[in-house]
Amino acid sequence: MVNVNTLSVSNSAATTNDNDNYNFEYVPVMVIRTRSNSIFSSEDEITTHDLMSVTNNNNIDNHLNNSDAYAYNDWNQYGILPSPARLVMFNPSLCHLCGTVDDEIVHHEYYIGCNHDNLGYNYCPHCKNKFELVIKKRAEPIWDLLDPIKAQQYFWAPRTRRDPITNQRIYRGPYKYDKWKAVSNYVSYITDNTKSYIGIKNTPFIYCIMINIYEDDINKLISLSDILKSNYNACKNGVYDTLYDPNIDDPINTLELPIDAKIVLH
Ligand SMILES: [Zn+2]
Repeated sequence: MVNVNTLSVSNSAATTNDNDNYNFEYVPVMVIRTRSNSIFSSEDEITTHDLMSVTNNNNIDNHLNNSDAYAYNDWNQYGILPSPARLVMFNPSLCHLCGTVDDEIVHHEYYIGCNHDNLGYNYCPHCKNKFELVIKKRAEPIWDLLDPIKAQQYFWAPRTRRDPITNQRIYRGPYKYDKWKAVSNYVSYITDNTKSYIGIKNTPFIYCIMINIYEDDINKLISLSDILKSNYNACKNGVYDTLYDPNIDDPINTLELPIDAKIVLH
């Protein structure tokens, strides 16, 4: 079924980018708050077993007893991330995730990757491990490419295909692959319209920047599955094969992967 809202949002975003002559393709990020994003449920439909005990944190208990804390229940109970906040406007003593205010402790900041709007999370040390676990789970198939310890200087990812005359997106034909790196390992769920005019909703994307010293910075959100396919053959043996070039075998069009495929680097 064609979702009219989705299409109109996509069109307006593309038009804005063209008019403003930006090089990146940034679509407003929306975090879908569903149980399926929870780190505590392995099967999306089962929601009765994904409760997490928070009783070892008295601050959270206190907060859950007043109505303001309602907004933090998804995180505290299910590990579902709230939407990122504009951190320049944010109280640095307030944990964006659990809602606790504490002037005595140093909070962490995590930017989701778009420099222009400073969106991200401000969170307390109590939430740190859980936050990192959620981030990792959401990017699991390509996590080793994003992991600062295992990551390479770059990974392969496709350039957007456009008609040279009309500048309209092209949906067919081989991809051109370039070297990119992730700006953020935070996954954004947006509508994927890179394969067809009718997009697939709630697809995980990663915010990336192209590595090219001859051009200005090109940033865009790239779908996690495109990054997985573009680099899968380079990582077949558990070590990143720097001689591999996806421009030869065009893996996004040719590579069939099992549903649970992931990149594993040693
Ligand atoms: Zn917290």
